[in-house]
Amino acid sequence: MILRSKYLICTPTDTIENGAVAINNDGTIEAAGPFGEVKRAHSGKIIDRHDEILCPGFINAHAHLGLTALKDTITDKPPFFDWLHQVATHLETWSDDDYFDSAMAGVSLNLAGGATTVVEICNNTETANALQLSGIRKYLLFEVIGFDPNLLEICKGRLEKRRAVFREEALLHTGVAPHAPYSVGQDLLVFCRDKAMERDQVLSIHLAESPEEAEFVQKGTGAIKTFKQKVGFPADDWSGANVSPVQYVSDLGLLGRHTLLVHCNYLSDEDIARMADSEATAVYCPRSHQYFDHPVHPLPRLLDAGVPVALGTDSLASNEGLSMLDEMKFVRSRFPELEDETILALGTTTGARALGAAGQIGILRKGAYADVISVRPGDGQGAVSRLLGDGSEVTMNMTGGRILFDSHAGEKNRTVT
Ligand SMILES: [Zn+2]
Repeated sequence: MILRSKYLICTPTDTIENGAVAINNDGTIEAAGPFGEVKRAHSGKIIDRHDEILCPGFINAHAHLGLTALKDTITDKPPFFDWLHQVATHLETWSDDDYFDSAMAGVSLNLAGGATTVVEICNNTETANALQLSGIRKYLLFEVIGFDPNLLEICKGRLEKRRAVFREEALLHTGVAPHAPYSVGQDLLVFCRDKAMERDQVLSIHLAESPEEAEFVQKGTGAIKTFKQKVGFPADDWSGANVSPVQYVSDLGLLGRHTLLVHCNYLSDEDIARMADSEATAVYCPRSHQYFDHPVHPLPRLLDAGVPVALGTDSLASNEGLSMLDEMKFVRSRFPELEDETILALGTTTGARALGAAGQIGILRKGAYADVISVRPGDGQGAVSRLLGDGSEVTMNMTGGRILFDSHAGEKNRTVT
């Protein structure tokens, strides 16, 4: 099969006009280049996307697809810890089927928004089951939460069981997600670090999300302490580490090369320098960040310091949509000083590198997975600007060589053989 279009974006800085991608039956890319060359060297059905833009599928580096059905249930934008409490209260009434359907709906929204890979924080088996059955490329990171040292043995058993059920393959990877430094004890954080490193897997942690987190990690006081008492979290003897959240997890050795530090809303210059000295990746969730009315995100400071930054949608409990294209457009409107190519890299190549999949996803070239999207161009000059410009829209999503979403499906004359 050959996909052809007016523009082919192979990487954020490499665009070909009248380009094409030849796709092998095993779901990898045989060639990506000028249409004439690709057509001469490869046979098969040609799918012509006409004036659209072919682009690497986006990488959603932080999602909770299991929470998709929470859309519009929390509308009064409460402070973070009230919001968290409301989420927990809603979930108490959910059945396994509710989680399954919610996650499937989340997959559909991701596909329609251009994501071909999603990093899911799994705290429910049905969510993982739904994702396993779906065609999207997924990293299932099993969530660990708690301060109780007895949890260590329980977590060991659970992780092994899940690894047996959710076996690694091209479309499915597993990893671990200690929830946050305020909700996971030191022993468990170290356990998660060792498990991830042992298997070279992805580790994700919510970090530097709120001033309350910084206070709790430093001194053990404040709104988080109150919140834990309110929701019946088992009492712990945490009295503070006297350091910032970033330094705390860094001192525990968590800033590895496949570590995702999610949110990073509140960072000192020292935190950023520490992150730049590590191989960890920051994950910015643009519209979720806006939902909670945090001050301007330190994205430009992170990029200036050389910290890799990927993007995530977070969940519909704190976001209006799950489209990665819309997240990038939002970044563009918030940070007009950033180059469009830089913004596209946040949604493609940086995420791929963090997941240990550089050259395999987030890029269109020979040997990579055929994770390709087609986008109706918006306003602007040049392919990348038109990709992110007003009015652009994802029209097709192919993951691993399979078309999983096509808004043109059923239209005539789009395929020529
Ligand atoms: Zn999250």
